Amino acid sequence: MSEAAFIPLSVPNFSGKEKEYVNEAVVSEWVSTGGSKVGAFEQKIADFVGMPRGIACASGTAGLHLAMLCAGVRPGDEVLAPTLTFIAAVNPIRYCFAEPVFIGCDNSLCISPEALHRFCERECHLQGDKLIDNTTGAHVSAVSVVHVFGNLADMEQILAIAEQYHLVVIEDATEALGSKYTAGTFAGKFAGTLGDIGVYSFNGNKIMTTGSGGMVVSNHPEWAEHAAHLSTQAKASPSQYVHDEVGYNYRLTNLQAALGLAQVEQLDDFIAHKNTMYDYYAEQLAGISGVRLMGWREGTRPNKWFYALVIEREGVTAQQLIGYLAENKVQTRSIWNLIHQQAPYLQNRFFETEKAEWYQQHIVNLPCSTSLTCEQADRVVALIRDFFSNS
Ligand SMILES: *Cc1c(COP(=O)(O)O)cnc(C)c1O
Repeated sequence: MSEAAFIPLSVPNFSGKEKEYVNEAVVSEWVSTGGSKVGAFEQKIADFVGMPRGIACASGTAGLHLAMLCAGVRPGDEVLAPTLTFIAAVNPIRYCFAEPVFIGCDNSLCISPEALHRFCERECHLQGDKLIDNTTGAHVSAVSVVHVFGNLADMEQILAIAEQYHLVVIEDATEALGSKYTAGTFAGKFAGTLGDIGVYSFNGNKIMTTGSGGMVVSNHPEWAEHAAHLSTQAKASPSQYVHDEVGYNYRLTNLQAALGLAQVEQLDDFIAHKNTMYDYYAEQLAGISGVRLMGWREGTRPNKWFYALVIEREGVTAQQLIGYLAENKVQTRSIWNLIHQQAPYLQNRFFETEKAEWYQQHIVNLPCSTSLTCEQADRVVALIRDFFSNS
């Protein structure tokens, strides 16, 4: 085989006005958290997802911390959260001195509404309008929902359960900017805008990037206001150093917002490219027995951020395929290790996690950059075909 070039998993795409806008920020000398681009960027994202307002912040993780605080997650509370997710979805629960209770996934890889319901039904009881964990006596105040790889969680069921059990719904839409329902009760509504409060991420590997960054949106205007307040050191006076609670330096910078403004102009194109290349992979992979591409929820238009290959061949693990592809200069990645099995959370409760355990062993994420070409995808598929015909 001729000398093949490295194919990365997911790299940023700066083919728009990134340099122009960042240069404007530098020339204006507004590089920190002041400056006009932050507000402009907030409005662009808010408009994109059909919300009145967005609160830009330093990262998705910071946004999730703000969301938990604004949602009223209190020290000693419990928050229901997926175990099959990136750890940044869970750590902010601890930042609030609350504890996650881990719930397994359904076949969309997102939190299972059935497991969620069974946990509330069998393991908890309602005391007035508070859900109490029978085992620990703690108040279960919220559920954190992650839209894994851009695939929407089953929000129809999850929101109904949350209403029944008085749970606040925090949406970790860090992977799902642009994913939306196209049918059913929520037709036209975007990931992150369905629950009480939602968070996006603009980390380098997300569908669009500001280097690092995040955004909070909320259906409660006063929560959004509170998030903005907390993100800027809880400064209570525009001109004097008056602070009315413990705040954070969680603001996005003008430099980052400049990058974001150029990226959001291309967001529709990025989503279209992700969709096209997903279909291309699906077509090319169709003839290979033992693997299938993870599908997407019916009645949605997902952003198709990550392409998850599910390995269904007995005796073949994700790690073996990842190793083979790496030897051939193709970068892929397994899905996350389960959070309830990670050192900081070994003492936490977990519930119906069997399916998550299976998927953890059997998923390989394929190269999915918005600059990915059909030739590159062809090479990835050819290698996968070789691997399975030799194993
Ligand atoms: C990326 C990601 C985050 C964190 O976002 P950052 O901007 O990297 O802090 C949180 N949750 C999930 C599921 C993510 O994929």
